[in-house]
Amino acid sequence: MVLPVCDVCLKSGILCQGCENKLESGEISQIDLDIAKVLFKIGDGKIGFKKTIEVGDIVIIVTDQDQVGKLIGKNGKIVRELSRTVGKKIRVVGQDSDLKSVSKDILSPARVSGINVVYGKDGDDKYKIRIVQEDSRRLPGRLDVLNEIIELLTGEKTVLVVDRN
Ligand SMILES: [Zn+2]
Repeated sequence: MVLPVCDVCLKSGILCQGCENKLESGEISQIDLDIAKVLFKIGDGKIGFKKTIEVGDIVIIVTDQDQVGKLIGKNGKIVRELSRTVGKKIRVVGQDSDLKSVSKDILSPARVSGINVVYGKDGDDKYKIRIVQEDSRRLPGRLDVLNEIIELLTGEKTVLVVDRN
């Protein structure tokens, strides 16, 4: 698992021409760079990620599915440090995860109570993701922002609703 910036740059703190070009062309962002620096320092070269996506005040880090736990860290320690560094909320999701795991990772610590298909007219189907009512205050962001993130990551049409008991 690698970081989007090379080891030489992470060690020296100065960007090489290759990484500088990536930053200028937008292939990597300043946030990618900041996150890579922190992970390089605390991850001992063992924690990596594929890319980041920024939506509102949330940064989603996409990594291999088996790296999600490592990147979050014990009791969320690494995520908290990353969040402090970039000044935004951080969510970690596994690459190519299914709708259920993406929803769980994005909405955590709020719990998902269920997902079902809502059949629309003209085959305009959506997945309705239901959130446990008592957890609605623990959602990491606004419903519309979180929904946008889930749609972006899964390519599905979704709608988020808080369960009513
Ligand atoms: Zn470099």
